[in-house]
Amino acid sequence: MPHAVPAFSRIGEENAFAVLAKAAELQRQGRDIINLGIGQPDFKTPPHIVEAAIKALRDGEHGYTAATGILPLREAVAVDLARRFGVEVSPELVMVVPGGKVTMYMAILMFGEPGVDILYPDPGFPIYRSMIEFTGARPVPIPMREENGFAFSAEETLALMTPQTRLVILNSPANPTGGVTPHAEIDRLVAGLARWPEAAILSDEIYGQMIYDGLSHRTLLAYPEIRDRLILLDGWSKTYAMTGWRLGYSVWPKTLYEAARKLAVNSYSCVNAPTQFAGLAALTGPQDAARAMVAEFDARRGLVVEGLNRLPGVSSVTPKGAFYAFPNIAATGWKAKPLAAALLDDAGVATIGGPDFGVHGEGYIRISYANSRENIAKALGRIDAFLRRRPPPG
Ligand code: PLP
Repeated sequence: MPHAVPAFSRIGEENAFAVLAKAAELQRQGRDIINLGIGQPDFKTPPHIVEAAIKALRDGEHGYTAATGILPLREAVAVDLARRFGVEVSPELVMVVPGGKVTMYMAILMFGEPGVDILYPDPGFPIYRSMIEFTGARPVPIPMREENGFAFSAEETLALMTPQTRLVILNSPANPTGGVTPHAEIDRLVAGLARWPEAAILSDEIYGQMIYDGLSHRTLLAYPEIRDRLILLDGWSKTYAMTGWRLGYSVWPKTLYEAARKLAVNSYSCVNAPTQFAGLAALTGPQDAARAMVAEFDARRGLVVEGLNRLPGVSSVTPKGAFYAFPNIAATGWKAKPLAAALLDDAGVATIGGPDFGVHGEGYIRISYANSRENIAKALGRIDAFLRRRPPPG
């Protein structure tokens, strides 16, 4: 019997997909399920973006492209970064990839090996740890704390660094907590990183345009002193409701760009051409649909936080970004994963247990508010009834 190499016994998962499948199966059986589990906008991709892809196909744009993406799209990314942040990025350092995930996959593969440490946020996007373990590197969790608004603490992050640290993964605004790290804290973190010149930085900024309460997003690209070791992860999935198109981009230091390009050539060759034209229309066309989505998420955020704080035994800090709330459920007496499972089975509401995002996620569940206001209100009502009806097991 053929066996894959042992590394595959260490590779992990993203449980949100398993919950999505389970919710779909229950729906198929005729159950009424409200999905607050999956992290994708519930809006349609704006029509002008869809039309651009259709036009590209009609125009015969169906062949391979450069592995790093079509030049107009890489140029548009550079213009967009200049418009949003006033930073100068050469299109030569921009790489178009099939989804945000691919950048983290490449970056972790480039630095992970036995004997080195990689720091990552916990709770955090589960693929960070999964890929770190796959490479044989030691995963070093950076705790994201509720009392800190689930922001990074520069002091705590820097205290975890050692001469073995090869990569530090940052994510703000964050999944699964909605935490946003304040500018001053990022300043302190970057200042401290000067002591660790051997460590590369992967900044996952995929929720950078989903930020509330008048806050602005501070990109790590804004710090020239780390540009030679910074990998930026961004993409279209969340901002333009394009999760299924599979389109993202990275900005690489010059020294790593060739390695990333070769990984692309060795795996997927290039992102499908019509999707790249859709991405171009997204960046160069009107931004009102993207802004309207953020305004709607903001309104729902208010409903969700207010509703969660009214549930017995539940409290939620106000998330400052993304489209997730991460309520503390410890006082309900339930452990997080059994609670998420019972909410799905018994109350018909899909959520994700905090431990699916790391050991520091115990005591919390993730609620995605990428669902209609009506469904959110209904789901909160169901959770309320459930908590009053069902005592915790044991
Ligand atoms: N990074 C974070 C923090 C995410 O939450 C996600 C998706 O949920 C991704 C990256 C991956 O995005 P994509 O669907 O474009 O691969």
